[in-house]
Amino acid sequence: SPTFVVIGAGLAGAKGAEALRDKGFDGRIVLIGDEEHLPYERPALSKDYLSGNASRDSLYVHDATWYAEQRIELRPGVRATGIDRAAHEVRLSDGTSLSYAKLLLATGASARTLPGATGVRYLRRLEDSDWLKGLFTTAGSMVVLGAGWIGLETAAAARRAGLDVTVVEPLPQPLVPALGREVAAVFADLHLQHGVDLHLGVQVDQVERGKRVKLADGTVLEADAVVAGIGAQPNTGIAHACGLRAGNGVLVDASLRTSDPDIFAAGDVANAYHPQLRRHVRVEHWANALNQPAVAAAGMLGKNDVYDELPYFYTDQYDLGMEFLGTIDGYDRVVFRGDVPGREFIAFWLKDDRVLAGMNVNVWEVTEPIKALVRSRRPIDPDLLADPDVPLDRLAA
Ligand code: FAD
Repeated sequence: SPTFVVIGAGLAGAKGAEALRDKGFDGRIVLIGDEEHLPYERPALSKDYLSGNASRDSLYVHDATWYAEQRIELRPGVRATGIDRAAHEVRLSDGTSLSYAKLLLATGASARTLPGATGVRYLRRLEDSDWLKGLFTTAGSMVVLGAGWIGLETAAAARRAGLDVTVVEPLPQPLVPALGREVAAVFADLHLQHGVDLHLGVQVDQVERGKRVKLADGTVLEADAVVAGIGAQPNTGIAHACGLRAGNGVLVDASLRTSDPDIFAAGDVANAYHPQLRRHVRVEHWANALNQPAVAAAGMLGKNDVYDELPYFYTDQYDLGMEFLGTIDGYDRVVFRGDVPGREFIAFWLKDDRVLAGMNVNVWEVTEPIKALVRSRRPIDPDLLADPDVPLDRLAA
């Protein structure tokens, strides 16, 4: 029977192998991962795990016995170094190679690094989170570079651990690319109220030995550690090298098939055509890595499913929990429903009165009506959207 190879043993890789078995594939499955761990989920690395409220075991997608039971050959600590598409072979860092009938690329993304800076730490892997957790017990202060999701979550965890925290962000508000200015202000206030020293709209000039940060406005910040959360880059190296179409990630169609019919991609590395959004999107979110692999697995088994889930994301910072659904690109207006200063509300991003995205903050079980609103593409009266007495289900119906 044929061998299916999965490169990258994170959430998407593990789910891809799982989906192949679920769909009845009985052949050999090899799951190659260059980390020395069972496949694990990253969101808790900057939240509960970092704060000491989640165990290491709770991070794993499955325990070791599960892989054995499913006859999934997991190869931790092994890196795929090249793909020979003509020979249908993957070269591995241990000097061996593997023949494949179908291949799934689930190589994810890596933390973007700050050029020229010394001693800066990043948060992507389990070891990074362990290091930070250790730091929390000894350090008194920390500078966080970047007010994106990971930077802000790290800042919140560090404040919880009692550190003095300074956050530096070149844009005028945190999270502007993700949320736009109107809603970004909510997160700036949240962190200010929890005692974070925010430096917004200023570039970093220099970082020395992970202790000293010079800003473009002349400010010098001293701290016990400097952590940067400045985005991630898709791991496209081997895809590029073997000539697959790749841009911002590996380009795939709506069935997650690459320009080579025997190779698929899913998770953070996949730049997939989205039928509802009518363009390619690369989503660096947990739910995408969880759900895309089943579609890729179907494709590997010769069935063309289509991935059309809307991008979904969540975060927890201090006492704020939220879920976000959709994309804000091209919005012309934001409508709030509920109590914004009290941080119990829903925000909607609209274009021509059509809902592009929604975010519920400390309000729960509204994902389905928000999804229905975005999917409907119908114009909705903004006043009704803003009125908490009008049930969302009714607007979405
Ligand atoms: P990855 O998790 O990056 O896994 C890819 C794996 O492949 C890695 O282990 C990598 O080392 C390995 N690999 C790469 N190249 C090779 C190769 N050539 N050979 C072998 N192995 C290789 N998302 C949310 O929606 N909500 C959150 O709250 C949230 N919080 C996050 C917090 C942190 C700190 C981080 C880092 C991410 C967070 N995310 C969150 C994003 C989410 O974790 C990612 O979307 C998800 O991990 C993507 O899974 P993946 O399997 O596609 O890629």
